[in-house]
Amino acid sequence: MTNYVFPAPVPTTLPVAGSTAVFPVARVYCIGRNYRWSPNEQAVPREIPPWFMKPASAVVAATGILPYPPGTGDFCHEIELVVAIGRGGRNIAPADAEAHHIWGYAAGLDLTRRDLQQHAKQTGGPWEPAKAFDSSAVCTALTPVGVCGHPRQGSVWLQVNGLERQSGDVSDLLWSVPELVSMLSQSVSLQPGDLIYTGTPAGVGPLHPGDVVHAGVAGIGELTLTVGSIPSQ
Ligand code: MN
Repeated sequence: MTNYVFPAPVPTTLPVAGSTAVFPVARVYCIGRNYRWSPNEQAVPREIPPWFMKPASAVVAATGILPYPPGTGDFCHEIELVVAIGRGGRNIAPADAEAHHIWGYAAGLDLTRRDLQQHAKQTGGPWEPAKAFDSSAVCTALTPVGVCGHPRQGSVWLQVNGLERQSGDVSDLLWSVPELVSMLSQSVSLQPGDLIYTGTPAGVGPLHPGDVVHAGVAGIGELTLTVGSIPSQ
């Protein structure tokens, strides 16, 4: 028995679709600017996308109430295809990512305090206040590759109160999933349990208390959540 000064936290886990098994979450990597948000971006050369992190403790299963975070007046949705790593590694070749390293896929929300993100962009400050808050990484149950394969296409969509907000397609990813795994693994050692949020299509927007969010990635996962009330400061 390790002599911890207090009980060590239990690992965050996500359910596995069609199974009683659970997936232990290690780290959360989020990719930015991985879809064209306007036709004008067609002319922009493809640059290595930015990435940032959220703590594993920010991951929550997509069920029930989506807590409205404190400290923001602009709580925004971003629906994303989520990649779950089952075998870690460094300098992974794109061709090896699918064959050896990806365990499965999910649909997730990279929730954002957009006002704090705008402030960070303007001041050159860190993005954690905007991105790394409690319950900021919503995720559906994970679907193993053996069930869903490696998605090449499929709608990435989000509705608020039945109205379409986001509508993209996995085939529109500027950097493919194998390329993202390879890119990250050249910068950090990927670990089993790592999640990669692969970026969001156009149409991000604010959520308000009582809103019903219905979203998903075709063939991968789907979620329905109700936004909670604004917490007292
Ligand atoms: Mn995002």
